[in-house]
Amino acid sequence: MAGLLFGTGGTPHSAKAASTIDGIARIAELGLGCMEIEFVQGVRMGEAGARLVAETAAKAGVKLSAHAPYFINLNAREPEKIRASQDRILQTARISSICGAESIVFHAAFYLGDPAQEAYNRVKNYLGEVVNRLKRENIRVWVRPEISGKASQFGTIDEVLNLSTELEGVAPCIDFAHWHARNGGFNSYPEFASILLTVKERLGDNALDNMHIHISGIAYGKKGEIKHLNLKESDFQYIELLRALRHYNAKGLVICESPNLEEDALLLQAAYNELLKTG
Ligand SMILES: [Zn+2]
Repeated sequence: MAGLLFGTGGTPHSAKAASTIDGIARIAELGLGCMEIEFVQGVRMGEAGARLVAETAAKAGVKLSAHAPYFINLNAREPEKIRASQDRILQTARISSICGAESIVFHAAFYLGDPAQEAYNRVKNYLGEVVNRLKRENIRVWVRPEISGKASQFGTIDEVLNLSTELEGVAPCIDFAHWHARNGGFNSYPEFASILLTVKERLGDNALDNMHIHISGIAYGKKGEIKHLNLKESDFQYIELLRALRHYNAKGLVICESPNLEEDALLLQAAYNELLKTG
């Protein structure tokens, strides 16, 4: 089996219906390896549904992850918004673990004009409460704050790696498109390689065996991300990224978030397999 599995953020467009179950079936038909369940508008799956998802994915040999709702801000001013944000991460983790997903991904916070260090301390504190709770409930999923695409949004590589070293059960979701959009750089082999090296140095040799990656084409401006694009309509050097992932023998899930979803996921998978052949 390849070290990296490729799949889509959400149900592929060509699935029979928009459901998670139909999505998993389509991923398997296409020969892809994984899918991220999108709870981005809210967690509306029940326990029975989640058990069926787990069964279907296991039978189809499809690995799952899940994306928590967008409405999360662990740096919110109002205590009730913090509480609601924590609850959304907890709900996502609980239902995802029943689905058999190994990781959940979320956008942790907005700076709201705060110094980055202050925002970091709050996020760490409130996320710490979440992972402690999950531990008490014996729910074992990796909780992964995502590298964000906008300057206003918490989630630099350093912030995400710091959370991962300071909190048990927390690991990074490396969104390479977001990082590129955030600073305009990080779009070449040496730059991608430097990110992987940093992950290894900060989190240990095994970290590259347990990667969770988002890739898409992306449009960006001074403030960062504008919108996702299909890879071939963007400037994103995905072959260079795949070469770096190959060179460092990264393992884990690669979730494609291009608007065309499975088309770019298949493009990435085919390009990666080509690199495996040529060594
Ligand atoms: Zn995301």
